Amino acid sequence: MERMSTASPDRSKDPIYSLPRHDHVIISRLRTGHSKLRHDMYSRLKVGDSSGCPCEAPRQDASHIRLDCALLRETADRM
Ligand SMILES: [Zn+2]
Repeated sequence: MERMSTASPDRSKDPIYSLPRHDHVIISRLRTGHSKLRHDMYSRLKVGDSSGCPCEAPRQDASHIRLDCALLRETADRM
């Protein structure tokens, strides 16, 4: 049986740790699926009527918002 490491992650290798705490929290929530995006809210808590995005994509998650959403494309391109 493989033992799980109890060591803390190496904070020097992830640039998230150099961000202000507020930004760090937002990125951590997006990474772990604990954001207020529709997919996260609907799949975990059954809040809302679907996981879908207003652009009619079936899943509004962090990847969709950053890469695919037609409604937010102009904003995503500026990031
Ligand atoms: Zn969308």
